[in-house]
Amino acid sequence: MNIIGAFGASRHAIRDLQLFRDADTPAVAALLAACPVIRVAQDEPVEDGLRARLYIVLSGSLGVQPATASGSGEIQRILPGESVGEQSVLDDAANLDAITALEDCELLVVEPDLLWRLIDEADGVARNLLRLLSFRIRAANALLRRRQKLGEFYRQLSMNDGLTGLYNRAWLNDMLPAMVARSRQDGTPLSLVMIDLDHFKRFNDTYGHTAGDTALATAAAVIRNALRPSDFAVRYGGEELMAILPNTNRVLAEMVAGRLCGRLRETVVFDDMRVALPHLTASLGVASLARGQDERSLVEAADAALYRAKEAGRDRIST
Ligand code: GH3
Ligand code: MG
Ligand code: MG
Repeated sequence: MNIIGAFGASRHAIRDLQLFRDADTPAVAALLAACPVIRVAQDEPVEDGLRARLYIVLSGSLGVQPATASGSGEIQRILPGESVGEQSVLDDAANLDAITALEDCELLVVEPDLLWRLIDEADGVARNLLRLLSFRIRAANALLRRRQKLGEFYRQLSMNDGLTGLYNRAWLNDMLPAMVARSRQDGTPLSLVMIDLDHFKRFNDTYGHTAGDTALATAAAVIRNALRPSDFAVRYGGEELMAILPNTNRVLAEMVAGRLCGRLRETVVFDDMRVALPHLTASLGVASLARGQDERSLVEAADAALYRAKEAGRDRIST
């Protein structure tokens, strides 16, 4: 530590320091008089050997990077009159935050024993400290909430397909086994509808890949809107989509698939009249969970049914 003198002999005034606001008493002045003032050059770390100490910025500014921040650059700026380290002094824990001088600084160093004496002898200091800590807790909570929201956002992003907004394959791999297990355990039906757009390669070739993307997104929206809130729509891959229908037996699932097939057939992808109306249909395969079936064979059954729908001429459902 580069000690340049005692606080009592410095040009700094107690009333400028947040912690001593309205607590600028002779008793406080006497306690602070012998406290060391140190100098830290720009970009230098404040080396405290991980000891709990309170630092009050007298001039310059400090940057504090919380130990928990994962390099996300959330550096807190501590300006003249402000302090850092109160919490580690109070709970007697090492201060793990990285503290660096953002510019040349003069700091007042308050050792734990002295801070406790200040608290004991000056109500104003105790009050200021409480206010400061309450403020810090609020700021920390706000940060946590922001991070939580961000986490949810990225989770959502990783589970949904970017083009269609439907659940993606990763989500399916995660969720389908649990849905199958639940259905078997509860003895409730579970059905799948595998949906493959017809002659979609031709659609792309005729109208272009961008128009193909729009058509695919439109088809996905049609399917999602035709399902109940308790159903799930997934982009299985390419132009292959899937509807998962919990609590739905085969008869009902066939009705749902028929409805999806009809809605897709009626869908007008582009209402721009300069373009010839594209014809968008799909073939659908329906399968319901049978006794002893696992999620893989259920998907295979829906796939096989879809193949039969294609073979039979497309734009139809098959079981
Ligand atoms: P079928 O009726 O037998 O299903 O014929 P199809 O042309 O739909 O089947 P095929 O598997 O031969 O081709 C699928 C096409 O779907 C080819 C591929 O370029 C297109 N496709 C898959 N994913 C996308 C996408 O994200 N955007 C666009 N525009 N096209 C896609
Ligand atoms: Mg296809
Ligand atoms: Mg396909």
